[in-house]
Amino acid sequence: LTGNPVLQVSDLCVSYGLVEALTNARLTVGEGQIVTVIGPNGAGKTTMLSAIMGLLPSRGRIEFDGLALTSPEVEEMVAHGMNLVPEKRELFGEMSVEDNLVLGAFQRYRMGFRDQAQTMEEVYALFPRLKERRSQLAGTLSGGERQMLAVGRALMAKPKLLMLDEPSLGLAPLIVREIFRIITQLRSRGVSILLVEQNARAALQVADYAYVLETGEIAMEGPASELADDPRVIEAYLGLG
Ligand code: ATP
Repeated sequence: LTGNPVLQVSDLCVSYGLVEALTNARLTVGEGQIVTVIGPNGAGKTTMLSAIMGLLPSRGRIEFDGLALTSPEVEEMVAHGMNLVPEKRELFGEMSVEDNLVLGAFQRYRMGFRDQAQTMEEVYALFPRLKERRSQLAGTLSGGERQMLAVGRALMAKPKLLMLDEPSLGLAPLIVREIFRIITQLRSRGVSILLVEQNARAALQVADYAYVLETGEIAMEGPASELADDPRVIEAYLGLG
């Protein structure tokens, strides 16, 4: 790992009723790193991000930027610099692009920060398309634009750790490339990134370190470039291409 860990998760367990969806999961994200969790449908990837963010009750240990928690609370996590771009994007469709961005800064505003205009300009610089469409209703955006807005809204909170749940889902290859380019750009600005992806090829290309999650358990881990060359990963997740 380069730098100090910003996030350290160990023995994380989540159950839905009697079904355990996550069993003793662990992971570490170093400062300024992109870490990816790959795995098949239903492996528990979304569950893992939701539990870390405090959106689901969990057991285990989560250490985030010096804060040690058992079952975290979402407001506390946001206030402390963690943000999640959910798989379903969860935008406010009846509100404009700009108002969605404003809402992303709500917690920081409440904490007394008044740097929202500047942050919005930074988001618009990263996504010029959003600036062009700042007055458009979010519900009328294309899939790619919606994903950009979801990322932009998360950035309005100025996160230290940005978690992305399947950012490439349902997007055309060109847009996927654009999103991944932005992710590496964010890393170079010092944002740590935890990326959940079914598109293992793209994720392993961009990540520093990777975990394979299978039926709720971490099955493999290693530097992303090493996992990309591992025969088991190639067979299960990368195909022959
Ligand atoms: P995908 O890539 O398909 O989104 P995933 O790896 O993100 O999959 P999860 O969505 O975390 O997987 O689901 C893990 C398991 O937990 C699945 O078997 C799923 O059916 C189950 N599960 C998820 N949410 C709930 C819920 N609210 N109630 C009951 N079971 C759930």
